[in-house]
Amino acid sequence: METQVERNLKPKSAPKSVYRRVASDDGYVELIDFMGKGDLSVVNAARVSFGKQKQKLDKNDHKLIQYLARHKHMSPFRHVQFSFRIHTSEVVCRQLYKHQVGCAFTSGEFREAATIWNEISGRYVQFEPAFHLVANFRPQHESNRQASKHGEKITLQEEAQEIYQRSILDSYSNYKKLLELGVCREQARMVLPVSFMNTLIWTASLEAVVNFIKLRDHANAQQEIRNLALAIKELVLPICPVSVSALLEEG
Ligand SMILES: Cc1cc2nc3c(=O)[nH]c(=O)nc-3n(C[C@H](O)[C@H](O)[C@H](O)COP(=O)(O)OP(=O)(O)OC[C@H]3O[C@@H](n4cnc5c(N)ncnc54)[C@H](O)[C@@H]3O)c2cc1C
Repeated sequence: METQVERNLKPKSAPKSVYRRVASDDGYVELIDFMGKGDLSVVNAARVSFGKQKQKLDKNDHKLIQYLARHKHMSPFRHVQFSFRIHTSEVVCRQLYKHQVGCAFTSGEFREAATIWNEISGRYVQFEPAFHLVANFRPQHESNRQASKHGEKITLQEEAQEIYQRSILDSYSNYKKLLELGVCREQARMVLPVSFMNTLIWTASLEAVVNFIKLRDHANAQQEIRNLALAIKELVLPICPVSVSALLEEG
C-alpha cells in the first residue's frame, strides 16, 4: 500500500506553495503576533528623550526614522517585536538559527541559550513524513563556491529527482523501522535527512528581522532561505513601512 511519504513525493507540476505570495517553496511563514504600533512605536521610543509622545505619524517622523537608521541609533527599532510560525526545511532552519541577536530559541537541546524560539521536538513527536521537495535542481556556481546559479537548471532533472526522492524514502523507511525495533525517537530521528520539514516559532525585534532580511534576501544567500526572507519582508513591511524601508536603505 502507498505510504503517506510516497504520496507526498509523487511528481507535481510544482511543490504546493503556502508561503504567502512566494511561489517557489513548499513551506510557509505566518505572522502570529506582534508587539507595538509599528513605526509609531519607533518614533515614540526615540521622542521619549524630549518627553514627547505622538498619536499619529507625520512627515517629520519619517525623517526622524530615516535619521535613526542612517546614524545607527538602533534602540528605538527594538521596541517592535514579531512572532512568526515558520514551516521550512531543516536546512533553512539551520541557517535561520545563526541569527542570534534580538532573537532567541528554546528547544530541548539548546535550553541553556535562554532564548525564545520553540520548535517541534523530535524527542516528543514522531515526525510526520513531510520533506522539502525540489522543483528544479540548480547547477553549482563556478566562482562562488558556496552558491548555486539562481534561475538555472541542470539538464538531468529526472535523474536528480529519482536520487533525491529515493534517498528520502529510504531514510524515512529506516526511521520507521528503528522505531518498530523499539529505538527511542531521539535516536531514530538521526537517520532523517536535513530536507525534513520543521516547524518553529521565531520571535525577534524589528532590528533583528531587518538584519535577517538584509543578509538573506541577497544574491549570495541560498535561494530557499531567500524565499523565506522575502515572505517575512512581505509580512513586516505593511506594519512598519517607514522603518523597514529606512533600515534596508540606510542601515
Ligand atoms: C550568504 C551567507 C553565507 C553564510 N555562510 C556561512 C558559513 O559558511 N558558515 C557559517 O558558520 N555561517 C555562515 N553564515 C552565517 C553568518 O556568519 C552569520 O552568523 C549570520 O548571517 C547571522 O548574521 P549576524 O551575525 O548579523 O546575526 P546576529 O548573530 O543576530 O548578530 C546581529 C548583529 O549583532 C552584532 N554582533 C553579533 N555578535 C557580535 C559579537 N560577538 N560582537 C560584536 N557584535 C556582534 C553584529 O553587528 C551582527 O550583525 C552565512 C551567512 C550568509 C548571509
